Amino acid sequence: MHQFISRRAALATTAAAVTVSFAGGRARAADLPAVTLDGAEATIRDADIGALSKGFKGNILTPADADYDAARKIWNAMFERRPALILKCTSVADVKTAVAFARDHNLLTAVKCGGHSISGQSVCERGLVIDLTGLNTVEVDAKSRTVRVGGGCLLGDVDAAAQAVGLASTFGVVSHTGVGGLTLGGGMGRLQRQFGLAVDNVLEVQVVTADGKLVTANKDQNQDLYWGVRGGGGNFGVVTSFKFQLHPFDFPITTTSFNYGADEAKQVLAKYFDYVNEAPDQLWLTVGLGRNAKGEAGVNVSGSYMGAPDKADATLLKLGTFGTVKGTRTGSMAYTALQKVADVGGRHGRFHYAKSGMLGAVEGPTRTKLIDATVDYFMDQPQNNSHALFLLMGGAVNRVSADATAYPHRAAMHNVDVGTDSDTREGSDAYVQWGRKYWDNIDPFTGGGFYINSAMDDGEKRVRGNFGGNLEKLVAVKTKYDPGNMFRLNANIKPKTKS
Ligand SMILES: Cc1cc2nc3c(=O)[nH]c(=O)nc-3n(C[C@H](O)[C@H](O)[C@H](O)COP(=O)(O)OP(=O)(O)OC[C@H]3O[C@@H](n4cnc5c(N)ncnc54)[C@H](O)[C@@H]3O)c2cc1C
Repeated sequence: MHQFISRRAALATTAAAVTVSFAGGRARAADLPAVTLDGAEATIRDADIGALSKGFKGNILTPADADYDAARKIWNAMFERRPALILKCTSVADVKTAVAFARDHNLLTAVKCGGHSISGQSVCERGLVIDLTGLNTVEVDAKSRTVRVGGGCLLGDVDAAAQAVGLASTFGVVSHTGVGGLTLGGGMGRLQRQFGLAVDNVLEVQVVTADGKLVTANKDQNQDLYWGVRGGGGNFGVVTSFKFQLHPFDFPITTTSFNYGADEAKQVLAKYFDYVNEAPDQLWLTVGLGRNAKGEAGVNVSGSYMGAPDKADATLLKLGTFGTVKGTRTGSMAYTALQKVADVGGRHGRFHYAKSGMLGAVEGPTRTKLIDATVDYFMDQPQNNSHALFLLMGGAVNRVSADATAYPHRAAMHNVDVGTDSDTREGSDAYVQWGRKYWDNIDPFTGGGFYINSAMDDGEKRVRGNFGGNLEKLVAVKTKYDPGNMFRLNANIKPKTKS
């Protein structure tokens, strides 16, 4: 009895658990309907899975398995998809086996780390999911101030291990986000203005490429791949491990938040755009339009001083001078605690729509037009759960040249993000329509650049435009490492086809 059948037979608890016949005394699973890379109908035969299970040590999940439903879920409930097969990898060898299986059967393939892809790229209908959540080791080397992280790790595990020895690097603001997707797209976080983006701290990656080989990429080996994975998303293969630079960082963090009324929204945004040029690198700053539980619109200015607490007030108090403060909150907490404060707000299983864009310096008449477009349309929104958020970039992020890594937005001063979210699917179409229209007002100010990790429904043209001067090199790297575009569920860069 091969491994897959025995585990599957044990786990199958639903009527859908189709053990259709017996051969030689063992239960046989049904063949699975699937789709190819190009969307054609395909079948994964029971015998194929039997052969796969001989070399694959992790769990092989089909729709008949009890663990399947939990494993196919991703963060954004908008994407209710049922893959034919989920391969839960436990090692690099498993990843190689999974990639070989995908290639040999020409299957539509998704790669999943933390499952936070806002645009649903880490799960696919009737395709194969290569699930990396079992590759979750974190090894800190305090002496060299580095950390090696499995390709399926979550941010909170890395923050905790690094902080245990007084070190940190830039990772995102919700601890259950995956290191894989966040880093490959750029990786913004509270330390970015001091230490750069997550990609700026990547020293090495190990990647299983489409041909099934494990490739190491760093500044000395496979430099083209090393360049591409730092901002080019999951286009080039499955990253089984990342090595990051860490930095000494051991402070309690002072945070503050000021609420202003809707009547002052335009003034507050103008003051924010005035203020940013004097912001120190230690400041993490966001300005968001939203509504409170009573449905009243307002603006929130939130800052965290990512440095010595005795210097915090001089910076943070200025954020309370943008208008008439209606409410304020100040606190001090450990960095690891701060990195979790948004975990509940950013919880799994809700319905989200988002668009994102990059803005340069916002000045002169353009500033007035952008502020008008942002505020006026927001006030007409149909529901409470919408936002527009400006995040201050700059600092160390902008001290890297635009072609040094694949991440192109080194001149951007702000990331602007608009979104809606809801606990139910009901009405979500209306929210999406509203989000799209809202974005149509703001997009002209962005020049077409956006953060590939927080955008949805962006077509090929927009993705290509986004990479600007880095596109040609990205196409070359893609063509070398993934000529058949196996890894296409991402901000996809198409390889050159043979003429
Ligand atoms: C609640 C929430 C908070 C967020 N906060 C931040 C933030 O603070 N800063 C920020 O920069 N972004 C943030 N984001 C955006 C985030 O960077 C992206 O959603 C990112 O794609 C999530 O990575 P993941 O591994 O969890 O996602 P997944 O859905 O698992 O993967 C996303 C994409 O990356 C690919 N991928 C993932 N891992 C690998 C790998 N090891 N090898 C190859 N390809 C891989 C997948 O195939 C997919 O295309 C946030 C998103 C959410 C939902």
